[in-house]
Amino acid sequence: MRWYFAALLGLLFCLAVPAVQLAPLQAHLERQLRNWQKRLSMEDWNLSVQVVRKAALEKDTWGTAEWDADSRTGVISVLDPMDYNLKGGELKRDMECTIVHELVHIQVSSLAPDNPEAQEALVNKIMGALVTRPCPN
Ligand SMILES: [Zn+2]
Repeated sequence: MRWYFAALLGLLFCLAVPAVQLAPLQAHLERQLRNWQKRLSMEDWNLSVQVVRKAALEKDTWGTAEWDADSRTGVISVLDPMDYNLKGGELKRDMECTIVHELVHIQVSSLAPDNPEAQEALVNKIMGALVTRPCPN
């Protein structure tokens, strides 16, 4: 019977490892999202955060957001740590910067809809003013 338990343990281990690695990151990002929604008075928005591989993002970007202003719903995507140029504390801080950056995008999108470059500059200015330490990327 021992081979059976070994196989079962092996299977459980394979199933458990990715869940153990991803779940704390997901929970961490969700906590950051809720915290920043509160600070930006966006608690009436129904937003979620997801981790995506670089193929899902535009080149040289660390995140993106899709939202619907009428229903106040949206999804913020942040770059998967596997594809990141940073790790540890810098990685976590930069992912937080992305969440703030995308939340500010959602807020300012109605102000300059026909000038994406001005919008990006404004978003970065506001993001920089909000976070207490410089964004690594
Ligand atoms: Zn942007």
